[in-house]
Amino acid sequence: MHESSIAYNLIHNVLELAKENNLSRVTLIRIHIGRMHHIVPAVLQQHFRLMGKKYPVVAKAKLEIRSQNIQIRCQQCGKESELTEIVFACPHCQSIRVDMIAGTDMHIIDISGHRGNAH
Ligand SMILES: [Zn+2]
Repeated sequence: MHESSIAYNLIHNVLELAKENNLSRVTLIRIHIGRMHHIVPAVLQQHFRLMGKKYPVVAKAKLEIRSQNIQIRCQQCGKESELTEIVFACPHCQSIRVDMIAGTDMHIIDISGHRGNAH
């Protein structure tokens, strides 16, 4: 399932970030997900909870998910637009020669937690 692989990647990225920042417990994780992923936030939350149980560092963390609209740049007229539907045409000139400039990735905005020893 799509959401489960995203949850897996997310947890491992957060664990790495926590290590770099010397956090023993992560309390909040904020992420952006591009709408291209067709992620159902509630399903991602569920997978995150289930998988996170195995990792004490993130087990109690709250996950905040923000959806990011898809943004395109038209190769023909050069205008940038945000798409609410997945129809890949420029709303200004109807050209289908567009580049996607946002909305295709998942990234961590930031995490917060407690520093120091896990004990
Ligand atoms: Zn255009």
